[in-house]
Amino acid sequence: MHVVPLPALADNYIWLLHDDGGQAVVVDPGDAFPVETALKARGLELRAILLTHHHHDHIGGVEALLSRHNVPVYAPRDERIGHATQRVDDGDVVLLDAPEARFDVIAVPGHTITHIAYAGQGVLLCGDTLFSMGCGRLFEGTPSQMLASLDRLAALPGNTLVCCAHEYTAANGRFAQTVEPSNPALITRQQEVSALRAHNRPTLPVALATEQATNPFLRTDCEDVIAWSRRHGIDGDRVARFAALRANKDVFSG
Ligand code: ZN
Ligand code: FE
Repeated sequence: MHVVPLPALADNYIWLLHDDGGQAVVVDPGDAFPVETALKARGLELRAILLTHHHHDHIGGVEALLSRHNVPVYAPRDERIGHATQRVDDGDVVLLDAPEARFDVIAVPGHTITHIAYAGQGVLLCGDTLFSMGCGRLFEGTPSQMLASLDRLAALPGNTLVCCAHEYTAANGRFAQTVEPSNPALITRQQEVSALRAHNRPTLPVALATEQATNPFLRTDCEDVIAWSRRHGIDGDRVARFAALRANKDVFSG
């Protein structure tokens, strides 16, 4: 399976997955235009749309795509998402015959309450839940829900390619370095990210193992994060540390 990030809107990625036979799936098409352009340029046929959550920058292009392509739309059970043909929830499996693919649906409440992720074919399509070196803002869920969601994603195989829905990596890395300034994996990743962004190239997908080594929101049990929390007056459990990281990132401008 080919895994291609399509830049869209301000800083979104619409993920395009396709096989060698020209059969394609798109994930979170916030805009139809980059999808149509990529399908045409690559000679692909759209066969399915996968949605992770209801925000407009993830579903805004669905209606226009459906006017040209008669395809199933997989989405969480949430009335705020129209045009869905297949509602899926935690534990469901999305089976496609073209491109041939199987994705496990994982409920990941936090950024929104009905947010889901799709894991399969060696990739994780996680919307606005897990970002490289960061995570989504808590618009609807609690810190404890989001941490539990991230725990489930972090338990996938380390070679899983994480396909996040935004290019937030460089700013996330700057915050991560304030938490763990001497984490060597983080320093290496930030250098790689700077080089990629200098050429306007995507920093994604990224291996889950890299996230486990660099993403402070996946590292709430690490000594550096515990020490950072103490310096911020937090002496609680990992949920308290996670909540403090999230609250500090919310107001970080580095
Ligand atoms: Zn969102
Ligand atoms: Fe988004």
